[in-house]
Amino acid sequence: MRCPYCKADDDKVIDSRSSTDAFVIRRRRECLECGKRFTTYERIEETPIRVIKKDGSREGFERRQIMAGMLKACEKLPISIEVLDEVTRRIEERIHEKFDKEVTTKYIGQQVMRELKKLDKVAYVRFASVYREFKDLDDFVEEVEKARGSAKKSRAGGRN
Ligand SMILES: [Zn+2]
Repeated sequence: MRCPYCKADDDKVIDSRSSTDAFVIRRRRECLECGKRFTTYERIEETPIRVIKKDGSREGFERRQIMAGMLKACEKLPISIEVLDEVTRRIEERIHEKFDKEVTTKYIGQQVMRELKKLDKVAYVRFASVYREFKDLDDFVEEVEKARGSAKKSRAGGRN
């Protein structure tokens, strides 16, 4: 993002929050060149990207799915939420740059692995070892939950 003061193209996000409808994300940025701060607003595209799962089924893309996967992989490691949020943002940007309508879970998983590899070896190995077996991010999260024995009790079937 180009700094409105000095035009440098080097900034860091110091705060980001979504508005109540979650379709607009406000980011507070700090220019690494001149140190001034500015705000950007990001609007999620009207046609949301869909995710193609390994069994061919589709579901809406959800950023928190990436976040959840990384949180699991980084559990108990000294990695802040801000760092993971930034990584998630990078992955999201990459997805939106490369794909218009649909993205495979495989691609998303590869991006998560790529980022974790740079971030933390333990997190990377954790994620890669479990993920390779399941190929879907939500499977991964579910499996780690089960392994921890903390899967919340849910009754199968509806209330009929
Ligand atoms: Zn600047």
